[in-house]
Amino acid sequence: MEKRIDGRTGLLALFGTPVGHSGSPAMYNFCFQHDDLNLAYVAFDVNIPDMEQTLSTCKLWNLRGGNFTMPVKNIASELMDDLSDASKIIGACNVFVNRDGRLYGDVTDGKGFIKNLSVNGVEVAGKKLVVLGAGGAATAIEVQAALDGAAEVAIFNRKDEFYARAEGTVEKLQKETPDCKVSVTPVEDAEALAAAVNACDILINATSVGMKPLDGQSLIPVELLRKDLVVADTVYNPEKTQLILDAEEAGCAAAIGGAGMLLWQGALNYELFTGKAMPVEEYQAFKAGK
Ligand code: NAD
Repeated sequence: MEKRIDGRTGLLALFGTPVGHSGSPAMYNFCFQHDDLNLAYVAFDVNIPDMEQTLSTCKLWNLRGGNFTMPVKNIASELMDDLSDASKIIGACNVFVNRDGRLYGDVTDGKGFIKNLSVNGVEVAGKKLVVLGAGGAATAIEVQAALDGAAEVAIFNRKDEFYARAEGTVEKLQKETPDCKVSVTPVEDAEALAAAVNACDILINATSVGMKPLDGQSLIPVELLRKDLVVADTVYNPEKTQLILDAEEAGCAAAIGGAGMLLWQGALNYELFTGKAMPVEEYQAFKAGK
């Protein structure tokens, strides 16, 4: 690393708290080195009250870009100079680039998820989706799917503090993407859930169900998993959730886990930072060899 750093090295950074566990610095630095780019990526532990000063320092020090994680994703979007359509609708951003002193923010969780579907041969345009969830990951997927031309997004969530957020998403998408039919229904309504899954092309779990400590659980009864249904999960730990295992067992058209979403979200960020495709295969080989 020290051989790469000189007086012209461009800096990128992750902001949020906690950030020490993040895999982003290792991933981006490997790729910068692989592509022989004079860039370096670090992480700064900052919280919401620090964000105004943080972003003016980014401009002062000419940071090239970076990422935002919890809990600063929402405040970051309020402090950007320019925002993508998805960020405007969601009110959050997880990535930014410095374009001649103006900070442009985007949210790539939804784009990464949809890119991962595409890499697995599944397109969302014209399709009917059931999305379980109304948190950060779910909202990003719901908004991006609607922007990318999905015919229908039926959101199901339990009646917790996230439900009102889903109602807000429905309201915003009805205005912004009127060609996409968007609805929200309590996931406890088993009859409505069964009817929606039976009528949909792609079923997505974007809740924490399936992830530790909720591993081994699924919100979808196995009898709803049919052969022409595409099933996808956002959860990547465990690599195969109960839903994905059930979908494989039922012989569903595809059973796609969450690891690819994480990878492609990073790859889309890399493209924003550098204008180049991320060396995905080389990075995966590097990671596997560790
Ligand atoms: P969040 O806290 O913002 O949202 C949690 C969601 O799960 C809400 O919709 C909530 O209602 C629902 N939920 C929680 N417990 C539940 C239960 N017992 N029964 C039913 N619903 C329940 O979280 P998030 O950041 O949106 O993350 C959601 C999932 O997506 C997590 O499992 C996370 O690992 C995954 N994720 C994956 C990636 C990726 O790159 N693959 C990125 C972000 C999040």
